[in-house]
Amino acid sequence: MKVKSAAKINLMLDILKRLDSGYHSLFMIMQSVSLYDTVTVERGGDKILIECDDENVPCNEKNIAYKCAEAFFDFCKIDDRAVRIKIEKNIPVAAGTAGGSADGAAVLYSLNKIYSAGLSQNTLCEIGAGLGADIPFSLVGGTAVSLGIGDIIAPVKPLKNCRIILVKPDQAVSTPIAYAQYDTLPRVRHLDRVGMLEAVSQGDYKKICTLCGNVFEQAVEVPERPYIKSTMHRFGADAACMSGSGPTVYGLFSDYEKAQKCYEALRKTYNNTYICEPADKGIIELMD
Ligand code: ATP
Repeated sequence: MKVKSAAKINLMLDILKRLDSGYHSLFMIMQSVSLYDTVTVERGGDKILIECDDENVPCNEKNIAYKCAEAFFDFCKIDDRAVRIKIEKNIPVAAGTAGGSADGAAVLYSLNKIYSAGLSQNTLCEIGAGLGADIPFSLVGGTAVSLGIGDIIAPVKPLKNCRIILVKPDQAVSTPIAYAQYDTLPRVRHLDRVGMLEAVSQGDYKKICTLCGNVFEQAVEVPERPYIKSTMHRFGADAACMSGSGPTVYGLFSDYEKAQKCYEALRKTYNNTYICEPADKGIIELMD
């Protein structure tokens, strides 16, 4: 079975508090974008086998796709764990765009079908939640509020009629280190969460753009961020903000021509520049 699984951006990412468990309680507004990994899952071989065309991705039990397969088999009490998982990577790695979570979600979705397990989307989200904060959202996709450790998802009005430019500077950010840096901040400027909830529930693009924000920008240093943001604004972006724990910066444009020009300018400097649109699904089945 072959599926496409979408990257995400955070229209808002605020951190409410650090939990005793070490996790953080989050407030996130998530948006799927039309940048996809392709994941093929087939029965065969004698164990969980991972294959990936990106050398930065571990092809072993550390892969999120592997962990999701194992968790699925444990949950369903399946002993025959012979599957081949092939990941064609397009989503940048360690970028704040949920690349690993997208692959994990794709595996949960595919195994549920292949083994005719009949698990609900909710149950798949529960299995995935402990393995990656963005896995539940990657299963649901579209535009959604995500709370807790990413395990509570509430879909809202889909974002429409805009272009999204992503730029990943040549820097990898480790999510655990980003949280550790956040925890050392003496003061945090929190975001207008209530305003954003109103904006997304009304599908008010203009208001969403004025409220986009990410508290990780206060903690994670990305030297290229000011330049990328100011370039996006110069080309007419309605908003520019970092996604996840970074370093990817995104720009929202209601004017498609301006977006195209901005994309062409930025990709001259940054190899990992993408032009996307909002996606209304996390996972899309492909014909084999
Ligand atoms: P998020 O936005 O969910 O925090 P991210 O973009 O910051 O995700 P990922 O691309 O998911 O980060 O990967 C983080 C690390 O996880 C990588 O450094 C990589 O070694 C490891 N990893 C494990 N499995 C995968 C996978 N399937 N795809 C990408 N990275 C993976």
